[in-house]
Amino acid sequence: SEERSLNFLEEIVEEDIRNGKNGGRVLTRFPPEPNGYLHIGHAKSICLNFGLALKYNGQTNLRFDDTNPAKEEVEYVDSIKTDVKWLGFEWANELYASDYFDRIYNFAVTLIKKGLAYVDDSSPEEISAQKGTPTEPGTPNAYRSRTIEENLLLFEEMKAGKYPDGAKVLRAKIDLASPNMHLRDPLMYRIKHTHHHRTGNDWCIYPMYDFAHGESDAIEEITHSICTLEFIPHRPLYEWFIEQLELFPSKQYEFARLNMTYTVMSKRKLLQLVEEGHVEDWDDPRMPTISGLRRRGYTPHSIREFCERIGVAKRENMIDVSLLEFCIREDLNKTAWRRMAVLDPIKLVLTDYPADKTEIMFGENNPEVEGGDGGREFPFSNELWIEREDFMEEPPKKFFRLGVGLMVRLKNAYIVKCESFVKDANGNVTEIHCTHIANSKSGGDTSGINVKGTIHWVSVPHAKTAEVRLYDRLFQVEDPSNEDGDFKDYLNPNSLHVIKTAYIEPELAKAELGVGYQFMRKGYFTLDKHSTADKLVFNRTVTLKDGWVK
Ligand code: ATP
Ligand code: MG
Ligand code: MG
Repeated sequence: SEERSLNFLEEIVEEDIRNGKNGGRVLTRFPPEPNGYLHIGHAKSICLNFGLALKYNGQTNLRFDDTNPAKEEVEYVDSIKTDVKWLGFEWANELYASDYFDRIYNFAVTLIKKGLAYVDDSSPEEISAQKGTPTEPGTPNAYRSRTIEENLLLFEEMKAGKYPDGAKVLRAKIDLASPNMHLRDPLMYRIKHTHHHRTGNDWCIYPMYDFAHGESDAIEEITHSICTLEFIPHRPLYEWFIEQLELFPSKQYEFARLNMTYTVMSKRKLLQLVEEGHVEDWDDPRMPTISGLRRRGYTPHSIREFCERIGVAKRENMIDVSLLEFCIREDLNKTAWRRMAVLDPIKLVLTDYPADKTEIMFGENNPEVEGGDGGREFPFSNELWIEREDFMEEPPKKFFRLGVGLMVRLKNAYIVKCESFVKDANGNVTEIHCTHIANSKSGGDTSGINVKGTIHWVSVPHAKTAEVRLYDRLFQVEDPSNEDGDFKDYLNPNSLHVIKTAYIEPELAKAELGVGYQFMRKGYFTLDKHSTADKLVFNRTVTLKDGWVK
């Protein structure tokens, strides 16, 4: 991935540097609105903005785009900072668009004085009707010809709280016949008597996104302002405000937002899932949020690698979630320590092994690492938990696990041979009886016996227990937002499967939060935040690529 060709944004930046634009300086920003938790789409934008700056010796501001007071909360600000840091990025400055309210207000006054903005008393419906259609020009109303003095007075009165919500707006006076609807006298300010998370009740007028965003970029002297494709038609307005106000000429560039299969990626929809209880919270391990992925066991490296692999596109596309899964598997395969855990237990009894004996076996932590990354010890006894699916009453040909007469290797221990099994009154198999090949112990096997299958196990008297949560896709269809009806109709009712009691090797009692483990043959797992010393809870991050490879 280091050898890839430049993406179109890197080409632009390199060209700007060659031309000495902005003195070769690169300053990007990541501008989240604090109205929800960040998701994997935001991670794409974060990697892009911070990545560009890192590559070209620049910097990145974290700017909270907090100009819309009703929906914003401090909890979201905190979560956003946590998530950006966790992804591994450091911002140059933590900034808030609301800190620019005074300056943005003064910009508006400047435009009024230039005859380029006016106060309009029309209702939203009237404004929309007067805007015309893409094929028909809009029609100016009487407010459009208000004098500069009148506009200055009215705007000041709006600010002073003289008018109720919706009574008046401030509009830019541009061109009601422009083919670009965004230039047909767009709104700059609206009245909203609402408490703001930082400015409290200082303001009852708030700037619109289009007026606040570019002006914030210019105030910070952002060189490359990167946003998603839907802002292409806003670009002429972005440039118009900057030109008329003679501000630092920040430039806007657009790339395709990340869309991913089997999920939704809008904060509004994610909020619905949380509020209506379809998921536990924003950090539910099934959510595409950064906090959900973290809790699920994703690493920052795997997410950055994913963002790098999908590249930067200029056209909307849909990325297969399996690419994200590939990235975490690849990472954990190299780093996660191997452990044994039995998720669907059945008891295996070694009839020829002393009942009072405990033997200590040894296994590598990670065979992908030279030297196995050290190793760990685990006890072996005459009673073992194994997976129910590793035994069959009537095994077909090529079943290389257990059935009467079949032999299998117990991982890091002995080869055993199945002699018989026990059933309860309902016909369920309750115990599997085996004998062991005494000279077949792993590491010193002199038996000369070759078996095809190896299975994992945990010693019954030594096993610890844990709750294990297995996840499937949150939605049943690739693009739930694009289906008929409500996207929630397409939720997967089986997206969470809880195993109340799994048996885990004793070493796993030391598992730490934020660390990935490979439960052999079962996938990659990580401790859940709800774990306690008395009750361990593991989340499955992802399954192994394919079943067991010996
Ligand atoms: P949402 O629709 O999820 O609410 P948003 O764009 O309104 O997203 P912001 O908080 O404004 O959310 O986003 C901050 C930055 O992240 C913006 O620059 C935005 O372009 C970018 N971003 C948001 N969603 C995606 C996505 N799916 N792919 C890439 N970038 C995204
Ligand atoms: Mg936004
Ligand atoms: Mg949004």
